[in-house]
Amino acid sequence: MIFHVDMDAFFASVEQMDNPELKGLCVVVGGSSKRGVVAAASYEARKFGVYSAMPVFMARQKCPSLIIISPRMSRYKELSLKIMGVLNNFTPVVEPVSVDEAYLDLSGCERLYDSQVAAGMAIKKAIFKAVKLNSSVGIGPNKFLAKIASDFDKPDGLTIIRPEEVANFIESLPVRKVPGVGQKTCKELTLMNVRTLGDVKQLSPDILMQRLGKYGRRLFELSQGIDKSPVIPFSQTKSISSEVTLPENTTDKISLQKLLLKQAQEVGRQLRKHNFKAKIITIKLKNDKFKQITRRITLKSATQSSEIIYHEACCLLQNQQLTRKLRLIGLGASGLLPADTPVQIDLFDEPQAKQGKWQKVEKTVDSICDRFGKGTVKPGTLWNLTKKGDKL
Ligand SMILES: [Mg+2]
Repeated sequence: MIFHVDMDAFFASVEQMDNPELKGLCVVVGGSSKRGVVAAASYEARKFGVYSAMPVFMARQKCPSLIIISPRMSRYKELSLKIMGVLNNFTPVVEPVSVDEAYLDLSGCERLYDSQVAAGMAIKKAIFKAVKLNSSVGIGPNKFLAKIASDFDKPDGLTIIRPEEVANFIESLPVRKVPGVGQKTCKELTLMNVRTLGDVKQLSPDILMQRLGKYGRRLFELSQGIDKSPVIPFSQTKSISSEVTLPENTTDKISLQKLLLKQAQEVGRQLRKHNFKAKIITIKLKNDKFKQITRRITLKSATQSSEIIYHEACCLLQNQQLTRKLRLIGLGASGLLPADTPVQIDLFDEPQAKQGKWQKVEKTVDSICDRFGKGTVKPGTLWNLTKKGDKL
């Protein structure tokens, strides 16, 4: 069974939580300009017929007491990370769909919970404990049905669609509520006199494909309750990088190396902090004509060592002829693997042993910097670079 977790009126609820005087009032989060639209509406506002994606001026007409608040994306993202963190404690197979929505595949965890409903309750409770916000959970045999289920009893809902109930649930489901059916498809379906998934079921897949293209087949499958798409866990971090616009344009490789050293320190520290190793090291160079090139190397074995990242980045820079002055330099690590991925040890290659020693040094430096602040311990070469207090 697949779980779909959806926060209730997420942005609006966050605003009501952070500003208690807004509780119980008609609140929307959205753009205040003439062309602004509603990004989220509190349940109080929804009673007046205010919905997401509605132009703000229209929402005002429907609900004269409406309070409009500008979005604070960084706050929502901060809470979103906490929520996704909570979900990751239930299973590593979490697919975030947006800041406030995710699918979970709890297959294999059945024995941890008395029932699927108990697992759903546990998820809701854990989220509330972490961020003090309500969510709705839907449980179903596939992603499509789980999403339909989470929407069924909002807010603060918990709905399960069991295999034998599937037909009942979707028969009368309006097509506009089906994920993937936008305005255009909806219009087309109305022309075909199709209002519910039950109506879709009566049609042949060929006719649906003629009118809707490839999506016709998908819609036909959904009308049968079939959805084969898997829950794809998404590693939020695909690459870690650092870049800087130079205080003045230069071709001086010595000072460019200094910057690479600083960036390697940062990138390595991020890798170690998030328990990743990187297989690919990339440098990015932009010249004074804004022409950008990147150069990359794939390592024999993945690393999280700043020292090795620095060494590889320097080789890439040395091999590059600088015909014009550079205005920006960047360093990135990608091809990320979990840090505990086994490494093939090279019998004859001494740097392996060296890497082990560096690892100890870097971990120690990390913990000193965690305690006493970033840059407390750093390579001597960088001493006068950061003293200037610039953003380098
Ligand atoms: Mg939501």
